[in-house]
Amino acid sequence: MTVRYDIAIVGSGFAGSLLAMIAHRLGRSVVLIERGRHPRVVIGESSTPITNLLLEELTTRYDLPSVRPLAKWGNWQRTHPEIACGLKRGFTFYHHDLDNPRHSAPDRSEQLLVAASPHDEISDTHWYRADFDQFLVREAQRLGLDYLDETNLTGFAESDDEVRLEGTRHGEKISVSAEFLVDASGPRGFLHCALGLQELQLPGFPATQALYSHFSGVRRLENLYPTPDRQSPPYPVDDAAVHHVFDGGWIWVLQFNNGMTSAGIAATDALAEKLKLTDGADAWQRILHRIPALESQFAAAKAERPFTHMPRLAFRSATISGSRWALLPSAAGFVDPLLSTGFPLTLLGVARLGEIFEHDWGTERFAARLQTYAAQTEGELLATGRLIASLYANMNNFSLFTSLSLLYFATASFSETARRLGKPHLASSFLLHNHPLFGPACIRLFERARQVRSGQESDELAEDILKAIEPFNVAGLGDPRRRNWYPVNPEDLAHSASKVEASQDEVMELLKRCGFQLQ
Ligand SMILES: Cc1cc2nc3c(=O)[nH]c(=O)nc-3n(C[C@H](O)[C@H](O)[C@H](O)COP(=O)(O)OP(=O)(O)OC[C@H]3O[C@@H](n4cnc5c(N)ncnc54)[C@H](O)[C@@H]3O)c2cc1C
Repeated sequence: MTVRYDIAIVGSGFAGSLLAMIAHRLGRSVVLIERGRHPRVVIGESSTPITNLLLEELTTRYDLPSVRPLAKWGNWQRTHPEIACGLKRGFTFYHHDLDNPRHSAPDRSEQLLVAASPHDEISDTHWYRADFDQFLVREAQRLGLDYLDETNLTGFAESDDEVRLEGTRHGEKISVSAEFLVDASGPRGFLHCALGLQELQLPGFPATQALYSHFSGVRRLENLYPTPDRQSPPYPVDDAAVHHVFDGGWIWVLQFNNGMTSAGIAATDALAEKLKLTDGADAWQRILHRIPALESQFAAAKAERPFTHMPRLAFRSATISGSRWALLPSAAGFVDPLLSTGFPLTLLGVARLGEIFEHDWGTERFAARLQTYAAQTEGELLATGRLIASLYANMNNFSLFTSLSLLYFATASFSETARRLGKPHLASSFLLHNHPLFGPACIRLFERARQVRSGQESDELAEDILKAIEPFNVAGLGDPRRRNWYPVNPEDLAHSASKVEASQDEVMELLKRCGFQLQ
């Protein structure tokens, strides 16, 4: 017997479950289908202000009050202390020379600290995905939608009025039909295989690999890494997504409140080969040995699960939608964990599909809206690829790496402010990539960044980046007096009010509303 639904969603990561709940709230009949079972270990953990703003917007708009507290550290701790997470006050970067291991540089020229929140209460989080995703899928079930886990899908067929899925569950054959299918099964996922979709390169992006695990017994870096000139950093450096950057790659360290730490390396093929990443745990030890601060931090650490080696990190699907199906952005492509862009891109896709289900379901507009969705998803993936390719090209030119990163932080803080002020039209695309002037300017800047050959070219490019971000810079980024440490400063935002077409009073009101000042 075939069970028929409006919408089938394949993959119950956070995005599949969230979209399933949204579609259910919109009155659609939904089935959520998962290959494995929760809790399951999955990587991709660090959220950002835009991620959490999107989560807040979606859970408010679609009336999901039990999920909403997960958009901020303080509410999360009060309402769901049983769901493990990490405190993320900002982005911490340190630069290293793997061929010349030494402790930190005496000044701040080899570090970049960008705060994302002024205090813990409203700060971002790292999602401990085993707990987080299990919670969401349980919420989806609690709402009453159908959930089939441990399901092995073996067939996909599309006709004029439905898609049909065949498979097995617990030894029994199952058959599901739906008017529409969303693939939320990640890169090289269900439809990629079932339809034999073509994989494309991200233009100009180097081939990269990853090696990672979860660890216990990792110490805090702040106790090991001397702070240059003894000033207090804008936030505790470990309460962040910590990036250790070096020629050809970088290491992430994310600490959770359950004693676990997620850590791994992403590296170009050339560096991965040099470091022999395929050796797993042995390779990890060799890498630590070349970064004294990390070697101390991980001296008593234990990998709590086998290392995962990903021989190819980036992915891009040539096709993103059909007439009766769509890939979520996370199934359509992936660039790199650098700058935590996976979640916001995915949630932008969830929001767009939610709007299509809300306003265009069953109308003649549906097909055209779906094509727009696919074009937006592709455009944002390519823009992210260009930014991160330029960062990879400059991992050993840390001052230019810093300037390029500021470009990301400027667009992110501008977009967040615009959305929070109720002016999303000012920032309608990720990285503002479809802005008529800024978008093409970024393409040229990223292209130059991949070609830089001299110190002078590098300095000129850094200056041009600062000029390009000026109209969107609401956070005092690039101010030389800050010397690479950027706290969240309400005055920066107030002074930049006109950039977001607001008055200083409106901005101060917004900051109050968002809990900037602790009572
Ligand atoms: C190494 C690494 C680090 C990352 N770090 C970050 C980060 O710090 N911040 C960030 O924003 N993003 C990060 N990302 C990206 C992030 O992981 C993704 O954006 C995110 O996981 C997408 O969530 P999702 O729910 O769409 O898919 P997933 O979490 O990938 O879930 C997909 C689900 O589909 C199921 N599935 C797969 N195939 C099938 C099938 N055939 N049938 C049924 N079910 C199936 C899987 O079992 C899984 O449960 C990282 C990615 C990688 C690779």
